[in-house]
Amino acid sequence: MEKSFRYIYGPVPSWRLGASLGIDLLSREEKICSFDCLYCQLGHTDIHTTDRGIFVTSEALLEEVAELPPELQIDFITFSGRGEPTLAANLGKVIEAIKRLRREPVAILTNASLVDREEVRTELAHADLVVAKLDACSGELLRAINRPAAGITCEAILDGLISFRRQYGGRLAIQIMFVDENREFAAELARLARQIGADEVQVNTPLRPGGKRPLDRIDIAGVVNCFRELPVRCVYEQPRKDVMPISPGETLRRRGKG
Ligand code: SF4
Repeated sequence: MEKSFRYIYGPVPSWRLGASLGIDLLSREEKICSFDCLYCQLGHTDIHTTDRGIFVTSEALLEEVAELPPELQIDFITFSGRGEPTLAANLGKVIEAIKRLRREPVAILTNASLVDREEVRTELAHADLVVAKLDACSGELLRAINRPAAGITCEAILDGLISFRRQYGGRLAIQIMFVDENREFAAELARLARQIGADEVQVNTPLRPGGKRPLDRIDIAGVVNCFRELPVRCVYEQPRKDVMPISPGETLRRRGKG
């Protein structure tokens, strides 16, 4: 009988990560996030919080990792899922354990809202690739696009990313979702990406069905032009791999984040 996974999903074909096996340390019916982004594929945030907690025990997650099929071919093991992965207080511990069990590189897709906390930076630093969201260059834009939980500020996110860059030897990518609200701020966002010292910038727009209209290819070409001094990947220009998920139901529930 086919093994069913509860906390692991995919692999999904990711334009940024190739064949990406997802790990969801939140794994609740409710979406748990410190943001409630206008364009979120997962719908409205049910639990809007900055409180970290244990949602899936490390033991339960690692049992699933040990049961992955030996023939599985993936490019990344990616922490993402139904919400913000840094809200899982066992994130660092689980990454360390997975790195002892598997040889694939580990990535985290984070909204960077908790990166001003030292313990979160230390945990993120266990990953080989951190993809940090930065859609806003002001508090006003942050509130308009990302609708953060109380206490999150644009300044704290920027300071946190700059501190993280100083301590982190892995690859740091800044991902920016461009929508009508921030398209005029591309040059300022490029300046911030350079100030942070990002290794690459991922220019995205909401192409999957959701609450926001994507920018078209011409608009995105204009945006990309602002980032020309940085290594840029653009959602319109990346090929996707053909991959078959090991757990189709669990994959579908979370596919919005791929
Ligand atoms: S896009 Fe990501 S950060 Fe934004 S609400 Fe959805 S899960 Fe949270």
